[in-house]
Amino acid sequence: MIRQLLFLALSFSSLQMKAQTHVRITSASADSVMRGRYNPAQFAPAFPINYPPHIAQWIARQVSPDTLRANILKLASFQNRNTASDTLSGSRGIGAARRWIHGEFSRYARESNGRLLPAFQEFDFNVCNLMSRHSNVIAVLPGTDTADRSIVLIEGHFDSRCEGNCDTACLAEGVEDNATGTALVMELARVFSRNGFAFPRTIVFMATTGEEQGLYGAQAFVNYALRNGVAIRAVINNDVSGGIICGKTASPPGCPGENLIDSIRVRLFSAGNINSPSKQLARFVKLQYAEMLRQHMDVPSDIQIMSPEDRTGRGGDHIPFRQNGFPAIRLTSAHEHGDADVSKPGYSDRQHSTRDRAGIDFNSDGLPDSFFVDFRYLARNTCINACGAAMAAAGPARPDLQVQVSGKTLFTTITRETQYTWYRIAIRSTSQDWDTVFTQHGVSGSFLMPEGRSYYISAAAVDSNGVESIFSREVTAQTTGLLDFGSSSETPDIELKQNHPNPFDLATWIVVHVNRMPRFRKAELQVSDAGGRVLRRWPVELRQGTNEYLYEHGEGMRGILHYSILLDGRPMQTRSMVFAN
Ligand SMILES: [Zn+2]
Repeated sequence: MIRQLLFLALSFSSLQMKAQTHVRITSASADSVMRGRYNPAQFAPAFPINYPPHIAQWIARQVSPDTLRANILKLASFQNRNTASDTLSGSRGIGAARRWIHGEFSRYARESNGRLLPAFQEFDFNVCNLMSRHSNVIAVLPGTDTADRSIVLIEGHFDSRCEGNCDTACLAEGVEDNATGTALVMELARVFSRNGFAFPRTIVFMATTGEEQGLYGAQAFVNYALRNGVAIRAVINNDVSGGIICGKTASPPGCPGENLIDSIRVRLFSAGNINSPSKQLARFVKLQYAEMLRQHMDVPSDIQIMSPEDRTGRGGDHIPFRQNGFPAIRLTSAHEHGDADVSKPGYSDRQHSTRDRAGIDFNSDGLPDSFFVDFRYLARNTCINACGAAMAAAGPARPDLQVQVSGKTLFTTITRETQYTWYRIAIRSTSQDWDTVFTQHGVSGSFLMPEGRSYYISAAAVDSNGVESIFSREVTAQTTGLLDFGSSSETPDIELKQNHPNPFDLATWIVVHVNRMPRFRKAELQVSDAGGRVLRRWPVELRQGTNEYLYEHGEGMRGILHYSILLDGRPMQTRSMVFAN
């Protein structure tokens, strides 16, 4: 993953779009399918598997830890996959790596009787003071229906780096970062194409380049989508997805202590909170895992929906998609490297260094005998991706809803996509995840909830196969007879609400509700520690209604902090929050 350069890169994103030239998809048929101009019958499998519960079952059976391991070792063998590295050698550098990935996609295509369409997405761009041609590698699985032409994207960057971000001579095997994500994407292209999985919508598998220098490959695909009117329904970015050992694939404070293992937890990062399409996608992926896939898995996963878009001060390939209005999330293992700041004295992590290798070679035969990546954990994460992407590609269009409150009862009415028999109603209060997902028969429902609390409510349509749509926007309601926080004379002008989640992860959302806009020149938030020391104070914009502000603290802190809303320097209200990560 990228750090530091990210913010610089993003501030120049409009320049970037202009600077990428000669953008092209090397396969005309892959290009046509992504634009929705094709005949679905041409790509129909002989024996389609299109019943979602069967798809979930097949995913769990077919994703192979052995294939993931073989792909990772092969990617490591290219020694240096820096974006600016050699493109001519057959065995070393990013050129050899991308041709190999494309070759594997082509093999899956042959084995699926041409259902999968491999291609490069090429673009000319200046990276590391070198103007050259770069390539994402993609594989397109055409949807069975062109009525809704939106696509689902599973991606992971295949470029690697060591301490020097433009060092093309060092050993940069980039195993954890990000052969793991690349191998995952490749394995899904294989499993999805060869099993005759058939979804209404097109799925694109993509290994991106240029991530480490500035998310350039992801930006190139965003530019392509914008220029060609390609709607992207969901993006799952996989970056650092297979390490489990603290002190090997991660280091404190990013993980609790040397040699502690976490092979259960996995993190989904996404931007925003209330009404965030990306957060709704993260919740959807977790729900599909819980309801469709978990029953088929030998070992359960604990999917954590994180507050921030990425680790503090860092970023990844999901960000350019979200910035352009496409719902996008990032999947990252629980035990991941610290801050990956290679410029710090005494930096001992593996990430962004020559030490990001497959494992330890005890008997000096040139092959690792003990691995840092856990291939079964990576396989489980691959299945989570697969199930989320499959259901996003299979399900109906998202509905909309209205909510009315009477006392302690929420009354829900579906107002769009009203033709379905069943709907899901998701309700959350203070957590990033839904508290409850109810099933509602018909367009109207009523739900008795604890009183005096605020809720965020959203809805999904359920098709005849039992698959949910991605969930709607969220509607806010409060069980005191008030709808959408409507104002009344008893309520204060400004209410500082409890932060959520609390205790929090790397970050938390501070909520300020404005019932009536008071007169002031400057509004600020302030966070202080238990001893009253101010940790951070920053100006905020207050609007009528619900305002949310992300407070990022980063890792390695436990205890109670206080937060206040200040108007013209005067504290109006203060509350406490618990930090435990
Ligand atoms: Zn990465």
